[in-house]
Amino acid sequence: MCGIVAYIGHKNAQPLLMEGLKRLEYRGYDSAGMAVIGDDLQMTRAVGRVSVLEDLLEREPLTGSIGIAHTRWATHGEVTEANAHPHRDDRIGVAIIHNGTIENYASLKTYLQERGHEFVSETDTEVLAMLISELYDEANGGLETAVQSALREVRGAYAIAVVCEKEPGTLVAARKGSPLIVGVGDKEFIVASDASAIVAHTTQVFELDDYQVCKLTEDSFRTSTLENISVTPQIRQLEIDLEQIELGDFDTFMMKEIFEQPDSLRRTMLGRIKRDEGSVVLGGVLKFARDLVRARQVLLTGQGTAYNAAMVGQYLMEDLAKIPAKVEYASELRYRNPIIQDGTVLVAVSQSGETADTLAALREARERGAMTMGVVNVVGSSIARSTDAGVYLRVGPEIGVASTKAFTGQLMVMAMLALFTGRRRFLSVESCAELMGELERVPEMIERILEQNDSIREVAARYAERENWLFLGRGYNYPVAMEGALKLKEISYIHAEGMPAAEIKHGPIALINDGMPAVFIANKGPQYDKVMLNIEQVKSRGGRIIAVATEGDTEITKHAAPEDVFWIPQISDPLSPLLTVVPLQLLACHAAMIRGHDVDKPRNLAKSVTVE
Ligand code: GLU
Repeated sequence: MCGIVAYIGHKNAQPLLMEGLKRLEYRGYDSAGMAVIGDDLQMTRAVGRVSVLEDLLEREPLTGSIGIAHTRWATHGEVTEANAHPHRDDRIGVAIIHNGTIENYASLKTYLQERGHEFVSETDTEVLAMLISELYDEANGGLETAVQSALREVRGAYAIAVVCEKEPGTLVAARKGSPLIVGVGDKEFIVASDASAIVAHTTQVFELDDYQVCKLTEDSFRTSTLENISVTPQIRQLEIDLEQIELGDFDTFMMKEIFEQPDSLRRTMLGRIKRDEGSVVLGGVLKFARDLVRARQVLLTGQGTAYNAAMVGQYLMEDLAKIPAKVEYASELRYRNPIIQDGTVLVAVSQSGETADTLAALREARERGAMTMGVVNVVGSSIARSTDAGVYLRVGPEIGVASTKAFTGQLMVMAMLALFTGRRRFLSVESCAELMGELERVPEMIERILEQNDSIREVAARYAERENWLFLGRGYNYPVAMEGALKLKEISYIHAEGMPAAEIKHGPIALINDGMPAVFIANKGPQYDKVMLNIEQVKSRGGRIIAVATEGDTEITKHAAPEDVFWIPQISDPLSPLLTVVPLQLLACHAAMIRGHDVDKPRNLAKSVTVE
């Protein structure tokens, strides 16, 4: 969650760090701060937006060419300036920024207080500053050794960057559990939580692994374990470019990313769909194709939007590949002592590849003998590196906190995975080729849906004041109903529930009052008639029907006002979520904007949830 960025080199650090903080803003945060070492250690922190910090720094700039900067998403202690990072200890003039949580901070704090350290914040992070200071020995390894020793005492998750007045030419970074990338420039390095803060300066990067420390000077670096054994990181080329992380002609990243979906999905499919041969090529799975084909169970896991995509994956795996499949929240799976039978393939779905619960569930399942597969977007992320096999989404960086193009990318990968497996089991070349043909047309179909943007905005305007909404769907579109409700909640703060359409009469129908918006996904599929029945049940109790329907459907407008219907092109039911979700993304985005919210910075949310 939140972000860190640090610089060491020959340039003025402050503007560079400030630009990095702005690039990391999308990750979600509540306060920000910066420390720079020049003649001495200077530090500024502020509650609220990065722009507040920027104003302060404009008035009183920090000078020097080594520094650290942070956006905090509070886990320990309130959102106050005293709790904002960096945290420091003036015994040796050390300053630290930290993403993550230190689980044993209370006992460490007691120990350090007994040794005379005075704490000024309520955070777990300050303990790290004090501990490094306590263990610092100039004659014995200095800052690098002190960080290694301190981290050996720590339980929890961290990505940290540390500077120290006593060693004004050194920056030390380390990680366990929270992501950290090092950008390698010409006589300079930038360390950051994600590539977006680096790409404007260099495209050469390497990742730190868990329990690794990196000591950087202006022109050298050394990576080591906590036991001080040197390791050689793999330097790689970043595959994102600046344009992908800039707004261009759009006002918000969320809207930009919704509109990007035709292109992002073309990239997801590129080179992977061989329609003529009726085969799907998934390079990262090929070696494990036999395990997948012979799997006795596919267990899919994720959180939030990724969970909803995994649920569609469950249906696809059973329907097209005929393998028993199950979906479960990673946060539940990791702790409930699950039975992982022989022949289980665990599929971990996560945009960032850093979701703490998903990573932990994956490790748990792996320990218990499952073959593991990742469906992630961020190349080189923790999940990507901890799995036996995997498929990247290739949708490009997703900056909008509310996931849109990653969701459709996940659905596309799920469909390709089911075809890949199904084709090796019971699916004929013809049926496979037919579905692939439809997949290839999905980008154009989404373009057609996007043309309805104006009328979707009008629907949003008509109902944006309503505080309670229902999203209802059946079969493949039950997960889409969940996703539609989640989108609306996340950015517009409207209370919305998504559920199987048939479920309402078992309780939730009691909620329906006059004019309550009920969004039905009523595409032409096997359960169409049943959905119509549920629509009637809601309508007769005064609910206001908004529907996603298939072009040419004349029945639906008897139940919903024609101006409250979003149209999707005809598509097979298993692939329909790729289309039905798009109007719901637009609906949520417009509703939030009409209510005056910043859709890219939703309150309380962080882009990648690296804490439990
Ligand atoms: N646990 C730390 C705090 O509460 C760091 C939170 C973060 O990752 O920003 O300050």
